[in-house]
Amino acid sequence: MFDQIVLASGNAGKLKEFSRWFARRRIEVLPQSHFNVPECPEPHPTFIENAITKARHASKHSGKPALADDSGICARALGGAPGIYSARFAGENPKSDAANNAKLSAELAGKADKNCYYVCVLALVRHENDPQPLIAEGIWRGVWQDKPAGGNGFGYDPHFFLPEPGCTAAELDPETKNRISHRALALETLEKKIDLLYPQP
Ligand code: IMP
Repeated sequence: MFDQIVLASGNAGKLKEFSRWFARRRIEVLPQSHFNVPECPEPHPTFIENAITKARHASKHSGKPALADDSGICARALGGAPGIYSARFAGENPKSDAANNAKLSAELAGKADKNCYYVCVLALVRHENDPQPLIAEGIWRGVWQDKPAGGNGFGYDPHFFLPEPGCTAAELDPETKNRISHRALALETLEKKIDLLYPQP
């Protein structure tokens, strides 16, 4: 397969999570800062297009295979909003989890349908012009809870109630969240695709 991969993200937590997983295949995950990859525009309306764009961009500037992820929360009653705008739902300057949560609570206040989904799309390209990016999507269903609960996680987690096990994502310990989250589900799917194309001896 390949022995190194560039992660198209500056997020140290993601680097750790993906590194742990790829280590099983003896693939080293390098941060894109290693190659001075410039910021990548994310002009597209979907997670999948943005993930592919970020992966191609990192591969172009590093000359290596690249993995990108794009994620967010989608509310069913809001036609999928905030979706790709999750990080900046309440504005860019500054981006604020508290303001984002307050805005989503306000927009869902009058709605009967409180179903929400965390979505994570992973895109892996072997080279900049890879005609077959490996794509994997993970969807994690929850229900918006007005009253925040829990101190773990980040972003929308204190309001993201999981009918099973009956608590918010912010009340899960980090190991449990990393095992069952949208990112974990996407990684499982990506793993199956990698196994299909590059069976291990
Ligand atoms: P990014 O893909 O890491 O840029 O995440 C986009 C945004 O989606 C984050 O800033 C959060 O607002 C939201 N988000 C994505 N994944 C999670 C999660 O696991 N918990 C809480 N919020 C999340």
